[in-house]
Amino acid sequence: MLNADLPWLQAPLADALARARSHALLVQGPAGVGQLELAVKLAQSWLCENRAEAQPACGHCASCKLFASGTHPDFQLLMPEALDASARESLGLPFEEPDAPKAGKAKPSKEIKVEAVRNLLAFAQATSARGKAKVVVIFPAEALNGIAANALLKTLEEPSGLLRFALASHDSAALLPTIRSRCQPLPLPLPERAAALAWLASKGVDGAEGLLDATGGRPQQALAWHEAGLTDAAWQALPKRVARGEVAALSDWAPPRVIDALQRLCHDLVRRSHGRPGQFFAAASLPAPRRAAPLLGWDAELRRAARHADHPLNASLWIEALVAQAQTAIAAAAR
Ligand SMILES: [Zn+2]
Repeated sequence: MLNADLPWLQAPLADALARARSHALLVQGPAGVGQLELAVKLAQSWLCENRAEAQPACGHCASCKLFASGTHPDFQLLMPEALDASARESLGLPFEEPDAPKAGKAKPSKEIKVEAVRNLLAFAQATSARGKAKVVVIFPAEALNGIAANALLKTLEEPSGLLRFALASHDSAALLPTIRSRCQPLPLPLPERAAALAWLASKGVDGAEGLLDATGGRPQQALAWHEAGLTDAAWQALPKRVARGEVAALSDWAPPRVIDALQRLCHDLVRRSHGRPGQFFAAASLPAPRRAAPLLGWDAELRRAARHADHPLNASLWIEALVAQAQTAIAAAAR
């Protein structure tokens, strides 16, 4: 079975099945709330051979079983190489073990390249194996590089026969307008807090409220942070540890997460300096800045540092410098 059973997707899925007029839908909204899962559910439903109109996939017909086993001949999932294995795993779909990296071979790409789209076009032109539909899911659609997106345009506009598309995107503004305009938009907003908390509780997440706030209300991200070992207590302790210049507060974290956490902290401190509550941290966890100016300067420095967060030359020195910078900015803002 798919692990894509996120309870807050039921209503958007029903809505999408009822309202879909186009052969191409674009699921769009913030990351960490299930766009890929919704696109996959749509695909399974379009392929299901035993459902009433506008109903989701039955889950037990021959097509649904093929789908769940990851071997449906009329389904294609197009993702960047760098995402493929982990995303397939999180969806419960089988995947081929990537070959051991060969000497001189480039790292898996974060882009969807034109070669992948060309393979897809062959699938698009073939006859549907089971005669119900053929479905392509593309995630994240903004990963299509320019050449790949252009190669896709004609098929997206005039798909042959039974072909349908479900694109999913965290950043639909980054899509080529020509791609966007060929798709029916399907917004997927943040789930309601109660539904998100209930789901996190069902996954055994302690301190779910704090982690959900920490992620700006994105339950999948909160679960991922929990699984990576972050606790609510550690998150709430972070602002004051950083203000004291404790590098150890962040030294176990991967560089992109360090930047992300510091940007959330900076954002909340700017809000506090304007007398507003924080968004990502509890009120009691945050120092009380009196001036915004040093924080705004820090924010600009963080944005510059974020460009190198994927591969700093020396991660521990880089984190030390960021913490020192944070300590200085927070101290200046308190005066
Ligand atoms: Zn079915």
